[in-house]
Parts: sequence; C-alpha cells; structure tokens
Amino acid sequence: MADYDYDLFTIGAGSGGVRASRIAAAHGAKVAVAEEHRVGGTCVIRGCVPKKMLVYGAQFAEDLEDCRKFGWEIDNPQFDWITLRDNVLADVTRIEGAYTDTLESHNVEIFKERAEITGDHEITLASGKVVTAERILIATGAQPRLPDCEGVEHGITSNEAFHLDELPKKVIIAGGGYIANEFAGIFNEFGSRVKLVNRGDQLLRGYDEALRDRLLQISMTKGIEFKFNTVFEYIKPCDEGGYFVKLSDCDEERVDLVMFAVGRTPNTGGLGLDTVGVELGDNGEIKVDEFSKTNVDYIYAVGDVTDRVQLTPVAIREGQAFADSVFGDGKPYSVDHSCIPSAVFSHPPIASVGMTEGEAKNKLGGVRVYQSDFRPMKNVLAGRSERSLFKMICDASDDRIVGIHMIAPEAPEMMQAAAIAVKAGLTKADFDATTAIHPTMAEELVLMR
Ligand code: NDP
Repeated sequence: MADYDYDLFTIGAGSGGVRASRIAAAHGAKVAVAEEHRVGGTCVIRGCVPKKMLVYGAQFAEDLEDCRKFGWEIDNPQFDWITLRDNVLADVTRIEGAYTDTLESHNVEIFKERAEITGDHEITLASGKVVTAERILIATGAQPRLPDCEGVEHGITSNEAFHLDELPKKVIIAGGGYIANEFAGIFNEFGSRVKLVNRGDQLLRGYDEALRDRLLQISMTKGIEFKFNTVFEYIKPCDEGGYFVKLSDCDEERVDLVMFAVGRTPNTGGLGLDTVGVELGDNGEIKVDEFSKTNVDYIYAVGDVTDRVQLTPVAIREGQAFADSVFGDGKPYSVDHSCIPSAVFSHPPIASVGMTEGEAKNKLGGVRVYQSDFRPMKNVLAGRSERSLFKMICDASDDRIVGIHMIAPEAPEMMQAAAIAVKAGLTKADFDATTAIHPTMAEELVLMR
C-alpha cells in the first residue's frame, strides 16, 4: 500500500470542510486542510453569520419606531454604521478563532494558503510545498456570480457589503433571491433608498407564491422599490462620487452603490481538477454520487462546490457523512437531501419546508391547504398594518403535511420545530391534537383552518 503524508487532505476550510476534517481526525485519520482566505468560509466570514447580525441591527429601526406605543420615550436615537460594522467584524474574527481552535484541538494541520491538485494523490501548496494524501476532499464553496453588463466591475457583491466605509444613500440591488431580499431589507431599515432590480418577474423562485406576494407587498409598503423584467445596460462612475446606472427601459440614474446578488458559482477554477480528470456539471459544479464521491475514486466533494443545495447546514451534514462513512467504523451513509427547511432573513423573514402549494398540486393532485392570515399582536399595538401568513399543505389522500410556509417575525425560529413534524410525516390531525401556547404566533400552527 502506498505511503501518503496524510489520510485526508481537505481543500477549503468552510462549513463542510471544517466539519469533515474535524470528524475524520476524530476517527483517527491524519488530516490537513488548506484555506487561502479565512477559516470559517462564506457562512462565517462573509455570509450567514455577519448577515444575521446586520439583520438584528436593522430590526432596531422598527423597534425604536414602535417603542413609543409601548411607553418608551427615547430621544433622537442615532444609528452608527461603523460601530455595527466593526462589532460584527470583530465577532466574525472571534468565531474564526473558534473554528481554528477546533481544528487544532483535533490535530488537523492548517495550511493558510491555496492548494492545487497536481497529480494522483498529490497536492501542491502556493508556497511550493508538495504533499500527498490517500484521499482528497474538495470543499471550496462558491463565489458570487456577476451578470454580463458594461461596468460590472463598479458593483459590489455580498463579499464586500460587510466592509462598507459608509452606508449608501441610494443603492440598487440586482437579483431577486435570498441575498437581494435580505440586503434590501437591511439597507432599507438603515435608511438607504433601495431599488431591487430583477431580470424576471418573480422574487424568490421556489418559495410559495402567496408568501412571495406578501413579502413584495410588505417590502413596497416599507419603501423598497422593485423593477421586474429589467436588466442592467451599464454602470459608469460619476465624477461627484457614486455611479450612473442605466437599466433597460429606464432613464439613467445616479446611485451610491450597486450590489449584485444574482446567484453563486461553484469554486472549481485553478484546483487542478482537469489534471486528474474530475468531472464537472453544466454549472461548473463538481459531480458527486450520493456518498459525495467524484468520478475519481479517492476524490470527494461537499458543500456549495457540488451545487446540490447551497446551504450551510447541508454542507455540514455532507462533511459529517463523508467523514463518518470513509473514516468511521460504522456503515457508510448518505445525506437525505429531501424536505430541507430554509429561511430568507428578509424584513419580515420567510421560512419554508416541503412542497409549495403549486408543487404539491402538480405532484399529488389532491391537496388540502390550510391558512392563517393574521396581524401579530405586537404589530397591532405598535400600529403596524403588516400581516403575517402561515400556510400548511396536506396530501388529501392521507392528511399528511407535505409543506409549511410562513412569513412572520421569527418565522425561521418557529419553522425549525415545525420542520421536524413535517420530516417525521405527521398529519394535520397531529397538529390539531396539540394544545396551543397562548398567546404566541406559533400557536397559529395548531389552529389553522
Ligand atoms: P439566488 O439563487 O437566491 O437568486 C438569484 C437571483 O438572481 C434570482 O432572482 C435570479 O433570477 C437572478 N439571476 C440569476 N442570474 C442572473 C443574471 N445573469 N442576471 C440577472 N439576474 C440573475 O441567489 P443569491 O445570490 O441570492 O444567493 C445564492 C445562494 O446562497 C442561494 O441560492 C442560497 O442557497 C444561498 N443563500 C442562502 C441564504 C439563507 O439560507 N438565508 C442567504 C443567502 C444566500 P431568476 O429567478 O430569474 O433565475
């Protein structure tokens, strides 16, 4: 048997790579990981974690507005972006440290540099060091995609949004997905004028139509402007600062910031995948089997680089399953990619699990839809007109819940628990048999008609 430097060499220390490396090492493997940016990857450094902190910061805008109705008088509250930005970035550094500690405490060797596969079982690091590994795991994630438009280099992506020196007075966000809607809410709450520009006529494709409509209606009421079926023609710097932007069928306008959020592309370039013949799919993603193995017997891939489901908890599960299956004592197992709950941290957030009403009708034929359209108690007292919407989709043949969809404050928190029930195959009758906790928003889950 060949003698390798490592049992496992992981390229990329994001959510999937860190979990896989740590677990493989815990199973007794000799593991190294290479990371060219920062340990933690997109989620920790420039994604979910700092984004959620900004969402919290943004929510204060409404809470401070509403607080008077609850008896609080706060004179002239001021928002300071730099304070929030720097506190968020400091916490990101703290979490990066925790991730690094976890790897080190499991004796995973960390190379803070780029790595490339240069031959069979062989990896060359940016420093020139060459190492060998029995198995290689690619966990390099994805990067923001940029649209085709003149002056695209003047726009930012979510990567840069956390580092802005000042908040834009006027921002145009391209895209209608997760990132576009989340940052539209964040910037809008901080007082920026926000225009969201989408190439199609639908926001958040894949989410239930009624919720998408509700988010659009609430977002417009909050002052966010939407342009559908619109593309960028050019972006040009303006001498006085900011940019001139020309959208299709619109006059040129001046804005302070353009942000692109039009999807993410798997990071497969410059990894030497062609050297060893790793097969890629149409979107440049690494093709893998159910055990995250590529067509090359000793090379595996997990997370966004495989473009299965671009979500952190999925990458973590894939990393865990890979490490347990390949280095553990138990039976190999694969990740179940069905019925994955998700959330959009818009203002208010959306959360969802299972089939939308449209999907269920197409797949099952007979469905029963239950709904609760209500104004949360807090909004009533605050004088906010904003209404929440819960939907439950059931298979008419056996009453089984096949989807739950919510748009409401704290919807993602409620959904995590509700998703267990849907995954477990519970029925509407099971929910009906559960006593409500009153007064909560979540009680609507067991009171839907
Ligand atoms: P999404 O895939 O959510 O949305 C992409 C949007 O950009 C869609 O509206 C799409 O339109 C549009 N689009 C795609 N290509 C172009 C183009 N060339 N020109 C103009 N518009 C285009 O992507 P995001 O960038 O928002 O997020 C990337 C991924 O990151 C998500 O898929 C998600 O998995 C993950 N993510 C998850 C979060 C969460 O869990 N809360 C938060 C942030 C990101 P169309 O519908 O017509 O295709």
